[in-house]
Amino acid sequence: MWITTPVFEVYITMDIERLWKNTQEELKVVMAPAVFQTFVAKTQLVVYKDNHATIACHNAYLADINLKRYYSLFKSAFDNQTKLDNILEFIVQENLKIETKDSSASAPLLNYQAPKSNYSHNLHPKYTLENLVVGNSNNFAYAAAQAIIANPGLAYNPFFIWGGVGVGKTHLMQAIGHELLKKNPDLKIKYFPAETFGNELISALKSKNINPFKDKYRNLDCILVDDIQFIAGKEYIQEEFFHTFNALHMNGKQVILTSDRKPSDIDRLEDRLVSRFMGGLTVDIQLPDYEMRLAIINQKVEEKNIQITKEAASYLAEHLTSNIRDIEGKLQELAIQSLSQNKKIIDNVSLEMAPSSKKNLSPRHVISVCAKFFNIKTGDLCGTSRKKDLIVARHITAYLLLTEVDLPLKEVGYLLGGKDHTSIMHARDKIHTEFSTNPQTRLLIERLKSTF
Ligand code: ADP
Ligand code: MG
Repeated sequence: MWITTPVFEVYITMDIERLWKNTQEELKVVMAPAVFQTFVAKTQLVVYKDNHATIACHNAYLADINLKRYYSLFKSAFDNQTKLDNILEFIVQENLKIETKDSSASAPLLNYQAPKSNYSHNLHPKYTLENLVVGNSNNFAYAAAQAIIANPGLAYNPFFIWGGVGVGKTHLMQAIGHELLKKNPDLKIKYFPAETFGNELISALKSKNINPFKDKYRNLDCILVDDIQFIAGKEYIQEEFFHTFNALHMNGKQVILTSDRKPSDIDRLEDRLVSRFMGGLTVDIQLPDYEMRLAIINQKVEEKNIQITKEAASYLAEHLTSNIRDIEGKLQELAIQSLSQNKKIIDNVSLEMAPSSKKNLSPRHVISVCAKFFNIKTGDLCGTSRKKDLIVARHITAYLLLTEVDLPLKEVGYLLGGKDHTSIMHARDKIHTEFSTNPQTRLLIERLKSTF
């Protein structure tokens, strides 16, 4: 601990504040105003000890960019101020409060405040209805969502949303949650991936104390359960979920579920669950068409407080055909590129930049890059050891072999130590869920992908 007494704490806090303010002033001189405002103004030095500075950022996006793009600028300004050779670290502190005089110039994304609730709803502040573009692929799901917001528990219960990766299932589901909370901030609403439910159940069973678990889930007013396909084939979890579902549903509580398939297509999902899930309204969300992709591109660009030329936008809308998550990823890259060239506009998008074709990656290359990234031997990565770190690395490698190299499940299983295709499917689903719900995992995977 670096703080010993309250008096000392005040003294150090003041000093740290001044030190950071001076560092920021120095950075202001060397950076373009837009870059400064977006990436630097809303950071805060929170700990400084032994030449090691910890700088807090609002979200993982900022922390990542500051680390990747602006580390050396931060460091030289900070070293100048302290006259020392320092190591900087960027951390995420979501509730970071920083007074800036010119807050109007900052990106709207960074200003957003989640609806207040003293209940832990787990809703991501970004997944709101205002941020959701409605088009041909999701207008039916959107209309149903509106009806649920108007009449939770009555309009459609359960509401089952299914569709491929990155089409906006989680976003729409959480947007409903935000709207319900806006109407009634006391509503006990909870978003959770089905996997979290499963893991908590297993821990409760292990500790032989299942009642707190039951109370936690059965006393809610609305549950948003993401990627319910996860529970397929898992007997205990299905059993417990069935009872949780009934307890809520019977009392008119709203249940919303998402999945990558419709209920009847989920293998090894008990019939009684299939029929419960189909008892309300089942809708699917498809990949966006050109018009919708164009609207999404314009909306995302605006969110980032940057502009795009008409030509660049339509070029991207034509080429970025995979899913909305990929569109976002590419725009983020382009936005950073423009800002780092002191431009506030995305133009000049070339074919080369369009990710319509995946890099021609060989499976061996991906495996060796992953092994290097996780600092383990290729043999261990492709081996059979059940050490936790190795398993995580193996799951991520499997996920990347499937998504980046498009290898079939069977082949991935063969390469990663002779696993059968169901365990690879399980690994894929697990990482996919993590990727969608955990910004740290997403960052890690993006970072790993950038080294391919
Ligand atoms: P899924 O759950 O279907 O895999 P997500 O809901 O996680 O997809 O969406 C992936 C990304 O794309 C998210 O960052 C989300 O905000 C964005 N997105 C998805 N659909 C839309 C939409 N209709 N409008 C704006 N952004 C969207
Ligand atoms: Mg999702």
